[in-house]
Amino acid sequence: MGLYISIHIGAYLELKTEPVIDEITTIKCREHPNEEYGITDKYCALCGAELKTIVDKSTYIHPGYYQLFKDEMEEEKYEDALQWMCIEESEGTLLLIGSEEVLDSPDCLEGYGQNESGDTEITQEVVCQYKENFKQNYEEIITLLKPRVKSLKVKFGVIVDYS
Ligand SMILES: [Zn+2]
Repeated sequence: MGLYISIHIGAYLELKTEPVIDEITTIKCREHPNEEYGITDKYCALCGAELKTIVDKSTYIHPGYYQLFKDEMEEEKYEDALQWMCIEESEGTLLLIGSEEVLDSPDCLEGYGQNESGDTEITQEVVCQYKENFKQNYEEIITLLKPRVKSLKVKFGVIVDYS
């Protein structure tokens, strides 16, 4: 638990991810198993023997938000479209909220109409409307991410994030 608390009240995206193989490549010398080598090294600096490449495919990891993008161009274009919440706790489940306030199509309650005091009753209509607004505001990235995850849901609720 950190010093800062951030609370989101509104629509958000819940992604469940499929674990992917985390390939760990190591370069080893038969004679010097404790020595470390660079990925491009061909021969052992100590004995001149040819180095072996060992690929370990036994570790599975859940991808983070940024690993769902195919390349750097795509990441640059979309990484800020949504804001990744609760990063530390996101093993297998990613929580993403909108990144900007869309005044004529609100999808969250914090910040909205921030110059005015007052309450907002969260009726069933608000829940439905805000989820619908979220789907429209972030349609492009939702369409992009959907085939890359196990499940994708637009939900409405409260996200508490300590950082
Ligand atoms: Zn060696």
